Amino acid sequence: LLEVSGVRKTFRVARNRLTALDGVDLRIGRGETVGLVGESGCGKSTLARVLMLLERPDEGTVSFAGVDPFTLRGKELLAWRRRVQMVFQDPFASLNARMTAAELIGEPWRTHRDVQPTAAARAARVRELLDLVGLRAGDAERYPNEFSGGQRQRLGIARALALEPELIICDEPVSALDLSVQAQVLNLLAELQERLGVSYLFISHDLSVVRHVADRVSVMYLGKVIEHGPAEAVFDQPLHPYTAALMSAAP
Ligand code: ATP
Ligand code: MG
Repeated sequence: LLEVSGVRKTFRVARNRLTALDGVDLRIGRGETVGLVGESGCGKSTLARVLMLLERPDEGTVSFAGVDPFTLRGKELLAWRRRVQMVFQDPFASLNARMTAAELIGEPWRTHRDVQPTAAARAARVRELLDLVGLRAGDAERYPNEFSGGQRQRLGIARALALEPELIICDEPVSALDLSVQAQVLNLLAELQERLGVSYLFISHDLSVVRHVADRVSVMYLGKVIEHGPAEAVFDQPLHPYTAALMSAAP
């Protein structure tokens, strides 16, 4: 579904150039969950931003279902944008506090008007999405600050699902949640994958979480993917010394 190859991204910081991504390769198959781990600052979120087309790589290519999204314009670009969505670490920061749950879920349809053209269809779809993520129809008129952290993350997930994406990039989706709530949200993501066949790029610093959810794992270090493979293999027999150090440092 997704193929990233040789992606480099540098930032100008004061008078220097900082290399955030130093030739990253990554593949995600349809319906697959790829875990992306690595220490703070290694470039995980920058890669996510490249995949959301928020940053343009200096070098390298991104191919999604055989298309380089950076070459798309106009209608084609708009159509492409539906296919990849993102769920953030802090649902509160990413959700407009002045909008109700129904408005937040329906907001992506304002840009993509053809998806749910009538008010009745939109209202029905909001109810379906609330139900899908385990919220109640009565929650539609509530505001983000009236939800618990776990419920807010469910709302963020419902919103990400509004355009029926094929890939959802989850950047530390459960890091802000209590352990028991983490498990609920992870179960929800797994259930959605089974029902909708969606793929995930699952970014987390929490190795136990990644081990639990990922089919394959990529380990990043200083802007490079230094190791990748099936989750059990990477966790149980890491090949790269950095991966081994990362595993042994984990609680
Ligand atoms: P964390 O686990 O803490 O979220 P990360 O792996 O997501 O870390 P990134 O946010 O991708 O790390 O940052 C990678 C590097 O790029 C860091 O050194 C960061 O300071 C730098 N960086 C990211 N965005 C910018 C920017 N817009 N301008 C300058 N430097 C940036
Ligand atoms: Mg990050």
